Amino acid sequence: MGAHVHVRLIQSLGVTEDGDLIEYSSCAECGATWVRKYPEGQVPVPE
Ligand SMILES: [Zn+2]
Repeated sequence: MGAHVHVRLIQSLGVTEDGDLIEYSSCAECGATWVRKYPEGQVPVPE
């Protein structure tokens, strides 16, 4: 997709009406933004 590995910066966290965790992120390198969604009760594991 890109020419580099995105440097993920978490901008904010939110919760949907369904109780899913929403993570808003952007790349420190190119400024790309994206959203990741985690099902209810599933905690993201830090890498
Ligand atoms: Zn990037």
